[in-house]
Amino acid sequence: MCDTTQVSPSEDDDQSPEGGDPACWLARVCPECGLFAEHDPPTVCVRCGTPVPSG
Ligand SMILES: [Zn+2]
Repeated sequence: MCDTTQVSPSEDDDQSPEGGDPACWLARVCPECGLFAEHDPPTVCVRCGTPVPSG
């Protein structure tokens, strides 16, 4: 679930999305310590090592 209150309509094709939906930044927050992941999930938190799942 994502609250995308400040997302503008995607009218440009500059970013060439792979899935169609823009990645929600909330999905990149570590569920354990709250650190913002450097990469798109699925990844692992660089601070605590907790897996950050995609979706
Ligand atoms: Zn963490």
